[in-house]
Amino acid sequence: MIEIEQAWQLIAKQTSTTETESIQLADAAGRILRNPIVSDIDSPPFAKSLMDGFAIGNWNDVNPEYTIVEVITAGQLPTQALSPGQATQIMTGCPVPEGTAGVVMIEQTEAIAEGKIKLTTDAFRAGQNVLDQGHVIQTGECLAQAGHLVQAHDIGTFAEFGFAELEVARRTRVAVLVTGDELVDPAESPGPGQIRNSNGSMLCGLAKAAGGEVTDLGIARDNKEELSQKIEQGLKNDVLVIAGGVSAGVLDLIPQCLAENGVQQVFHKINLKPGKPLWFGKAENGCLAFGLPGNPVSSLVCFKLFAEPTIRNLEQGSREWVDFCSGQLSSEFQFKAGRRTFWPVQIDLSEQGFMLNPLDWKGSADQVTFLKANGLVSLGQENLENGGYSILEAGSAVEFIWL
Ligand code: AMP
Ligand code: MG
Repeated sequence: MIEIEQAWQLIAKQTSTTETESIQLADAAGRILRNPIVSDIDSPPFAKSLMDGFAIGNWNDVNPEYTIVEVITAGQLPTQALSPGQATQIMTGCPVPEGTAGVVMIEQTEAIAEGKIKLTTDAFRAGQNVLDQGHVIQTGECLAQAGHLVQAHDIGTFAEFGFAELEVARRTRVAVLVTGDELVDPAESPGPGQIRNSNGSMLCGLAKAAGGEVTDLGIARDNKEELSQKIEQGLKNDVLVIAGGVSAGVLDLIPQCLAENGVQQVFHKINLKPGKPLWFGKAENGCLAFGLPGNPVSSLVCFKLFAEPTIRNLEQGSREWVDFCSGQLSSEFQFKAGRRTFWPVQIDLSEQGFMLNPLDWKGSADQVTFLKANGLVSLGQENLENGGYSILEAGSAVEFIWL
C-alpha cells in the first residue's frame, strides 16, 4: 500500500494539460487564461475629467472669474485650448482641453452672467479632478498573466482593452460511471436488497464544482459486457471516475475491465481511511481513470483528495493537491489507529484559531453526518496506544482540509 503523498506524485507524473480554446468574453468567468493579456492602449486613452464642472485655464484666487469658451459633453472633443481667465464646461469622462490647470466641480462654481462663472471655493490643487492619459496603465503593460483565473468582475476590464474573445484552457472533460447490481435511480423506491445510487449525482456535482465538463454515464451493472461498454465511452474523456467494484468482492470487476480496455494500472490500494481500495491508471489516449471504492464517503474522500485536484491540474497546468490548514481539537478524540484517517469535523473559528469538533461518524456508508461537516481532520498513524486506539486530547494540534 502506498501513502497519499506517493499517490499524488504518481498521478502528477501521468498528468498533462488540456488544450487552449477561444471563448466569448461574457462566458469567461471561472476560466483560466492561457496567454498573458497585454494592453495595446493607454488607460485612460486621453486626459479625462473626473467631475461634471469646469476645466479652468489657471487658478486665480484674487479674481476667480472665468469666461466660458465652450461646453463639452460625452463623446465630444474640445476644440479650444484654455488661456488664463477661460473655462470650458465639461462632463465626467470627457477629454480636457489643452491648457487645463484643473477641473472645478460644478458645485463650487456660480453663474454670474451669460457665459461667465465665478469659483466659490478657495481650495485648488494643480491637476485636480483630471485623470492623466496612461495613469492607470500604459500601452505594452501586462494586464493579467497566463494562468490567471478569470473572475466575473475581471470581464469589464478585458472589455475595456478590447478583448472580445479570450484564449483560455479547455475545461477538463470528466465522465462519471457508477457500478452495482444493487443500485436504483434516486427517483425510485429501492426493492429488497437495493439502494439508491447516491454517488452518481454526488460525483457529477463535485466534478462540476471542480470546473469539469461532466458526462454522466449512469449505472453499469456488475457484468463485464456492460462495464466494458461504458468504460470504452468514458475513456473518450480526460478523466474517467468510476465508483464501486474496486475492492475484493467476487463482482468487483473494475480493475480487470479497465486493464482489458487498455488502461494501465499505476496503483491500487492506498493507506487511507476511508478509501483504501482506490485504483488509478492511465489509458493509451491519456485518459486518467480513477476507481473509487463505492461506499459514499470513501468515494467522496477519494474524489476530494485525488480526482478533484487532478481535474483542476489538467485545466490549470498545475500540480497542486490539497491545502492543509492548522487547527486544534475542541474535545478529546479516540480513533482506531494504524491508517491515515480523514475524519469529518465541524470547524469553528475562535480566538485560539480553528477549533475542530470531531463528529459522531458511523463510517464509510454514513454520509448523513457530512451534512454537519465542513472539514476533514487528517489523523496520522502516530500515538499508537491503548490497544490499537489513539487518543488525542482536547487542544491537540491537528491538520485539516476544508470541505
Ligand atoms: P463496492 O465498492 O462496489 O463494493 O461498494 C461498496 C458499498 O458501497 C456497497 O454497500 C454498495 O452498495 C455501496 N455503493 C456502491 N456504489 C454506490 C452508489 N453509486 N451509491 C450509493 N452506494 C453505493
Ligand atoms: Mg459494487
